[in-house]
Amino acid sequence: MLAFTQKTALIVYAHQSPGSFNAAVRDVAMQELVNQGYKVIVSDLYAMNFRANATRDDINGDLKKSELFQYGEETMHAWMEGRLSDDIVAEQRKVEEADLIIFQFPLYWFSVPAIMKGWIDRVLTQGFAFSLKTMYNNGVFKDKKAMLSFTTGAIQTMFRPDGINGDINVTLWPLQNGILHFCGFQVLAPQIFWSPAHCPPAVRTAMLDGWRARLKGLLAEKPLTFAPCELFDLSFQGGFMLRPEVKEERESQPYGFTTGHHLGKPLPPDNQIAAQSAGESSAKTGCSK
Ligand SMILES: Cc1cc2nc3c(=O)[nH]c(=O)nc-3n(C[C@H](O)[C@H](O)[C@H](O)COP(=O)(O)OP(=O)(O)OC[C@H]3O[C@@H](n4cnc5c(N)ncnc54)[C@H](O)[C@@H]3O)c2cc1C
Repeated sequence: MLAFTQKTALIVYAHQSPGSFNAAVRDVAMQELVNQGYKVIVSDLYAMNFRANATRDDINGDLKKSELFQYGEETMHAWMEGRLSDDIVAEQRKVEEADLIIFQFPLYWFSVPAIMKGWIDRVLTQGFAFSLKTMYNNGVFKDKKAMLSFTTGAIQTMFRPDGINGDINVTLWPLQNGILHFCGFQVLAPQIFWSPAHCPPAVRTAMLDGWRARLKGLLAEKPLTFAPCELFDLSFQGGFMLRPEVKEERESQPYGFTTGHHLGKPLPPDNQIAAQSAGESSAKTGCSK
């Protein structure tokens, strides 16, 4: 008889109101994932009164270098020695257990709300979540998936390359590449709920139905494409830059590698909001995950 290994999903959730659209989106994810046999854990950050600021209080015991407090260094040592504060350790246990992490939030200032940024700053400590040797596609969490699911105030056209806010692919690059992919996560395409407060109830219901339908096949989805570490000279001498032969090979291509690695060319279309098909992907030049 085959052993059943239950998958775990962690929803890191940041909204103040149980009556919000974000709460409804979270509930759909919980119901659908539980129906699929997942164990679902929710970190409801406002309800937990999760502390956002990264301070000395995150470290139990003496500092390594009390004359100049360096949060990153001190939390790395504290992680190695089991001296991080209990609230951080509890969240790190959840991350370790999760096969899938969904960050559910309203877009605040083109980013995550401060309380969620605090979770990122404090939980994804050096050593636990990354090091210079373990980053991007070689990252600590390379066997896990993560995604952003968020609501906006803006309507979709405002976040087009010719819309007033500029290209949503650019907005998402720091969160998806700089945080999630940096820690190794396979990043699934974001779920964006455009302007739920300014659309008719029927449209909101349709958005929730669409989310429910997507969740059914979520883990089978192809992740977004990023430029793998192997394309770069990973040394201080080489400046962690694209290897010259890779750059040269790219010269003849119409697009840059990714939203960030655009190389002065047009951005690959929808690089941060949709998984690329084999034809569109940069795999031909060795640039697939
Ligand atoms: C500090 C700050 C910064 C911001 N920065 C940005 C920014 O940079 N870019 C941007 O685009 N926006 C920004 N916003 C706007 C913000 O992103 C939106 O207000 C938010 O995303 C709306 O989501 P909500 O869950 O709060 O909606 P809500 O207002 O809670 O919900 C919208 C509607 O959905 C209804 N609803 C609730 N449950 C259900 C259900 N089950 N079925 C159907 N309908 C339901 C609610 O009753 C309500 O009518 C910012 C807001 C703040 C406060």
